[in-house]
This record gives sequence, structure tokens and C-alpha cells, in this order.
Amino acid sequence: MSDSKERPFILVSNDDGIFSPGIKALAEVAAEFGDVYIVAPDKEQSAVGHSITIQVPLRASKFTVADKYEGQAVNGTPADCVKLAHGQLLDRKPDLVVSGINHGSNAGINIMYSGTVSAATEGTILGYPSIAVSCTEFNEDANLRGCQEAARRVIRHVLENGLPRGVTLNVNAPAGEFTGIKWTRQADSRYVEEYESRIDPFDRAYYWLTGKFELLDEGKDSDIHVLNNGLASVTPIQYDLTAYDLLNGADDEGLNGD
Ligand code: MN
Repeated sequence: MSDSKERPFILVSNDDGIFSPGIKALAEVAAEFGDVYIVAPDKEQSAVGHSITIQVPLRASKFTVADKYEGQAVNGTPADCVKLAHGQLLDRKPDLVVSGINHGSNAGINIMYSGTVSAATEGTILGYPSIAVSCTEFNEDANLRGCQEAARRVIRHVLENGLPRGVTLNVNAPAGEFTGIKWTRQADSRYVEEYESRIDPFDRAYYWLTGKFELLDEGKDSDIHVLNNGLASVTPIQYDLTAYDLLNGADDEGLNGD
């Protein structure tokens, strides 16, 4: 492209795999702002968190999404895809990394398990402004227009204002239209009753994760609260997991016995 020097370069990834409708929806929005390249898993990698592949080789195959967006499919995790893109597959440094649109919410504790969020977090670790985008509905046929609009607004904001080092933006939006968009914090939440136990044809037990989501948070400023009220949510998150409140009151003497 003749104007490629002025146009931002945007790396697109996800965890649902390069065939997912969500990654096409996000590539469409990213292409409004810049040149797009996709590096995404060759199959679904939901809930792999920030895992990376170290025991088997990674391979990447050229792939075009929707006959329009060039990229590569990788036999690895979302974090692998962004690391490999950065280290080997891209000939330009991206101005932005976007991940999604995930089919399923990545609000509350889901952030910890999410491959979608981890692709974006890996972008942040590598020093690129990064955004994760998820739709609250799992259904692959979900209407992603509202999620695309939320992504559009946040991408514009980040391209204009940048992001502080170490901060990723985690965006969630309902299927269909949203009624507003708000900055939020991660809701305190967890899963309970997590496994169903069954017996296989060889009489051995097997277990299937079935967790029910439990919201432990009444706050009106949380990601889950605003999503439950039909709004889109933007949460600034960070990978520095240090509990500073505890650290600041901690005394080394307490570790040294008496
Ligand atoms: Mn997913």
C-alpha cells in the first residue's frame, strides 16, 4: 500500500482460532485504522491462559481470513502467536496488538483463564499497546456489531493517547447493541461446583469442567455489573500481580524468626 508508512500497523490475534467469526469481525474494525496482519492459533485455544509451548516445535502457515486479511495460523497458544509474530513473522513492529473478538465474556475472574486476554497481555509485555475484546455471548452466530463499535472506540482512544507501559485494556460488550460504554474494574468472582464425574466405557472415572460462575461483588463500578446492565466495559489490567497493599506494610523482620 502506498500510504503504508503513515498507516498504523495492527497485529490481530485471538484464542478461538483463525477460523472464528470473531477474528474476522475484529480485523474489519482494525482495518479501518491501519494495515492488518493476523497471527492466530490454527484451532481453538480458549481458556489456555498465558501458557506457552516449549516441548514441541511451532509451525506457522500462511492464511488469509475472509479473502482479505493476510496472516499466519500457528499450532500454538495465543501467547505463542504474539511472541512468534514479534520474534519471527512480522517485518514491521506493530503499533497496536488487538485480540478477539472472543466468543464469551472475559470479565471478572475469566480474565485469569482467558487466552484472548493473554494474547493482548503478551503484546503489552513485548512493549506494544494492546487491547483484548470479548462478546458476552458464546454463540458463534452472536451479533458482534456492538462489540465492533466498542473495539472501534477503544482502538481510536489508544492510537490517539497510547497506554502506559504494563497496562492492557480488556474490553467486553454484550451481543447486539450496547447502551453506553464505561471504564470499570475487574469484578471479584469465581467458579463453583466445577466438575461433572462420569464413567468411561472402560469403567474408569473421568471429569468434565462444568463450573458455575459466582459473582462475589456488589459494586456498581465492576465490569460484570455494567455488562449486566447492557453497557460495554473497558478495564485497564496489569500483569504485575504484586499485592502492594500487603507489601507496603510488610516487615522483613517477620520472616527472620525471633
Ligand atoms: Mn475463546
